[in-house]
Amino acid sequence: MKFADLHLHTQFSDGTFSPEELVAHAVQHGLAALAVTDHDTVEGCGLAARECEAAGIEFITGTELTAEFNDIEVHLLGYFLDTQNERFLAEITKFQTVRQQRIHEMVARINDLGVPLDVNSVFALANCKSPGRPHVARALVKAGLVRHLDDAFERYLKKGRPAWVPKARMSALDSIQLIHQAGGLAVMAHPGLNRTDEIIPGLVAAGLDGIECFHTKHSTAMAEHYLEIADKYHLLVTGGSDCHGYSKAKPLIGSVKLPYECVEKMTATVMARRHAAPTAPAAVPS
Ligand code: AMP
Ligand code: ZN
Ligand code: FE
Ligand code: FE
Repeated sequence: MKFADLHLHTQFSDGTFSPEELVAHAVQHGLAALAVTDHDTVEGCGLAARECEAAGIEFITGTELTAEFNDIEVHLLGYFLDTQNERFLAEITKFQTVRQQRIHEMVARINDLGVPLDVNSVFALANCKSPGRPHVARALVKAGLVRHLDDAFERYLKKGRPAWVPKARMSALDSIQLIHQAGGLAVMAHPGLNRTDEIIPGLVAAGLDGIECFHTKHSTAMAEHYLEIADKYHLLVTGGSDCHGYSKAKPLIGSVKLPYECVEKMTATVMARRHAAPTAPAAVPS
């Protein structure tokens, strides 16, 4: 059997692996295909594609966008995107800027509590355009200001804690459209984490292509539940570990095994769509 892991983060957002390290782990796990899905960026895709090619692994471009539908947060994965698409790049650059501003805001709040975290230490550690809460947590650990990552989230960073700052969210409709115009497939990430099934019909109406049935935090019952939903709404089935390297307890890559036939169905959908896309109108002879 061939397997894929289609939800992986690298150092280009809040994962700890470089694309090279990630692919080396993928080789160890015998993955046939993988996708890099960094938050609000596709920067790691070039390097990962090159490493995958050398390793004989199929590479799929990806990203993870934070969106909202009826005020409910939903993470949307984009796959098979054209990573040079100008509109897509312009849009995600805005979200990267907001993420950087949010780091300043979170650290200011932590400082207001009398905790002397240096904002520059967070940016130095993150060393990417798309920083997030895990970078603040790691910087707190590194400075000896908390004992471990969970401590940082529990005390300061999780929702409702004093340094929690909401993240900018694109409308789900706009996100799906943005992914589509970049040639990609739009997939609802880890629906079992948020348990907001009521928004699925609306997302489907907006053009959702797939749903992440297999995820580290999905129980077997949840995976089955979402497989039924995929069937009901004719959605593609995807899955991945949501590996963040050592940003979480242990590297999760390869722990979720998506059957390769799901990747083949995704590829076929993309190909059919590209084939059906209207070509530039032929010049009218004068
Ligand atoms: P952000 O995108 O900046 O809101 O950060 C979200 C990231 O923080 C996701 O990758 C989460 O999985 C991660 N996260 C949330 N809670 C924790 C926690 N208790 N320990 C480690 N990572 C966490
Ligand atoms: Zn993350
Ligand atoms: Fe997510
Ligand atoms: Fe993720």
